[in-house]
Order: sequence, then C-alpha cells, then structure tokens
Amino acid sequence: MTKNSTLNLSNSLDLFQYGEALGHGELHVKMDPASGLRAIVAIHNTNLGPALGGCRLYDYDTTEAAIFDAMRLARGMSYKASISNLNLGGGKSVIIKPKGAFDRVALFEAFGKFIDELGGRYITAVDSGVTIDDMDVIQRHTPYVATTSSHSEGGGDPSYSTALGVFQGMRAAAKLKLNRDNLAGLHVVIQGAGHVGYPLAKHLHEAGARLTVCDISAASTQRCADEFGATVVAPNDIFTVPGDIFAPCALGAILNDQSIGQLSTKIIAGSANNQLAEARHGAVLMQKGILYIPDYVINAGGLIEAAAMYQNDHPELVRQKVLALYDSVHEIAKQALATHTDPAEVADAIAAARIYGASPLAAAA
Ligand code: NAD
Repeated sequence: MTKNSTLNLSNSLDLFQYGEALGHGELHVKMDPASGLRAIVAIHNTNLGPALGGCRLYDYDTTEAAIFDAMRLARGMSYKASISNLNLGGGKSVIIKPKGAFDRVALFEAFGKFIDELGGRYITAVDSGVTIDDMDVIQRHTPYVATTSSHSEGGGDPSYSTALGVFQGMRAAAKLKLNRDNLAGLHVVIQGAGHVGYPLAKHLHEAGARLTVCDISAASTQRCADEFGATVVAPNDIFTVPGDIFAPCALGAILNDQSIGQLSTKIIAGSANNQLAEARHGAVLMQKGILYIPDYVINAGGLIEAAAMYQNDHPELVRQKVLALYDSVHEIAKQALATHTDPAEVADAIAAARIYGASPLAAAA
C-alpha cells in the first residue's frame, strides 16, 4: 500500500484520526478476564461484502500497537480483496498474547464467541501465531471462520494457492517486461524456501526455469537443490545474484536503499508482505527499470483460497480464480509501464475505484 506507510504512526496518534486517514469503518474490542482474551477486530470496509481477514496472536508491546496493527492490516485486506475481484471487504483481528501461561483452547473459544457476536460482518482466518487447530476451536462457536481443517483436504493451508498465484504473476510480468511467453530458461532468484517459496520453486522448475535459492534453514535450501537442481547461496548474498526475476518469499521491508542498489534483476515478483521498506521505494525501482509487482496483488492466492473454502467453492473454481491473477498482474504492469507510474500506485487506484466507486474517498485512499 502506498499511503499506509506514509502515515506518521507515533504513539500519540489519535486512533480516530488514523482510522479516518485509512478510510476505516469499525473497530471492535473484547475483553474476557476468565480466559485472558484481549482482542481487537478492525473492519475497514464492507462495500464489497463481509470483511475477511486473518487473526494474529502476538505479544504486542502496547494496546495501541495492537489496534494500529489491526487497522493497518484490515485496510490492506480491503485492497487485496478488491484487486482480486472478490466480493469481500477488508478486516483483521489481533489477539494480544496473554503474559505467562494460558489456556489456548479457552482463549480461542472466547474469541470464537466474540466473532459470532459480530454477526458475520467479519470472517476470521489463520494468520501469524495462529494454527488451523485454533480455527477449529473458533468454529465450535461461530460459522464465521475460514481455513478450518474441515474446509479443505489440504488441512486449510492456503500457501499452495499463494505460490500458484505468484507463479501466474511472474508469467504476466515476464510477458510484458521480457517479451517471454513462458519462463523456460529464465533465472529466478528466490529468497525463502518455506510454505510458499518451496511450491513456487516446484512450479518454476516444472516450467523450465533455473533457480537460485537462499534460506536461513539449510534443510529448506537442500530440498530445493536435491529436487529442483537449485543453486544455494547464503542469505546475505541473495540480492547480488544476477538473474531475471527476484522472488522475495521470506520477509517484509526487504526492498530498501541498500538492497535495491544491489539488485540487477528486471522483475521483482514474490509473496512476502510489505516488501517495500518505504512507499518511495516503488518509484526508486521504477526509475531503475525494475518492474515491481505489488505484493498484495501477486500474493492474493491465499485469500482467494480462504474465501473459496469458506464458500465451499469447487476446487476447480478456486484454481480458475487463482489462475486469473495473471490478468490482474498483467493489467497493472501494463498500465504502469505505459504511463511510467509506480505499479503500487496503479494497483491502489484500481482497488480503490472498485471499493469506493467515484466517491471522494477513492481519491483519499
Ligand atoms: P514461511 O515461514 O513458511 O517461509 C518463510 C521462509 O523464509 C522460511 O523457510 C524461513 O526460514 C525463511 N527465512 C526467514 N528469514 C530469512 C532470511 N533472512 N533470508 C532467507 N530466508 C529467510 O512463510 P510463508 O508462508 O512461506 O510466507 C512467506 C512470505 O509470504 C511471508 O512474508 C508471508 O507473510 C507472505 N505470505 C504468505 C502467504 C501464504 O499463503 N503462506 C500468503 C500471503 C503472503
């Protein structure tokens, strides 16, 4: 998101002021002393449908930090759902991790009751610090939960769809930037061979791409070397590897002044959230002639899968929706290249237009 990261997020920032700046709609807070639950649900916007977004369990330093995190992430979900042509709004929940020992089942039971009280305006799903088992506990108390074990044979893990979506986005980017109809023979450099990076490497290997990977886990890179013939480099050396496409699939904020100075790939297309350290880095990449595919566009496969699980869509329909990320990425990249505009700005404008139509909020978002 471009404007998110330009806001001054100081501790003294008024939450209404922050919410208004992000175009927020609702904030719900719940305390349950018996279980230790302290939870926040931020609903950014429901113009397109009920708000769907993950639940985080995190050891926040302050309550303010938890609230601002939920609001920032909820806005991101609105934009991700919109750009993916889903009829969903954007929401996010956070649970402040209780200090010391706590009863996890009781915590998520209380959280499930909280979600149910919202009457379906917000649908929760798995996110950092939370497991599919936790989703199953929530499901005992509310139907407004996606990514439970009953939702898919794959155990509710949306990473495979995320990887497939990134692969599609790479194909679209290569078509526009490198005039290539397929990825055969291209050199793709992957940072992080985890739940998304590994299946992405598999797709790329099957498509005939050459791979270089890094990970802080030696077992993860070894698997890619053994199965896909990938070259392995140390994490600190990944930005200097000469290649065609760089795929960040590990950490946020990795596109900064230093790393951009080292990168020589023509395309950046990966699953990691919030890849740009600052919004201005989108323009820096463009000036350097690197086509950056906005993260929230290309990594939407997981959201598409979560939404489809919730609606009990047929797996083939889900696959078609994920494959359609090719078209979303193609449209954004085409506009960005034709107008010499930061692709993140193009994506934000398209997403905002679908959410707000021609209302004045579209311009503010
Ligand atoms: P993961 O934890 O399974 O994989 C991340 C991998 O990165 C791990 O193998 C980890 O060892 C490695 N790593 C950590 N620090 C590293 C470093 N400094 N250098 C190299 N490797 C490092 O996570 P994931 O589910 O594969 O997600 C990857 C990224 O994509 C995350 O930013 C995540 O937020 C984002 N994302 C994931 C999904 C999804 O469906 N899983 C959806 C949208 C976005």
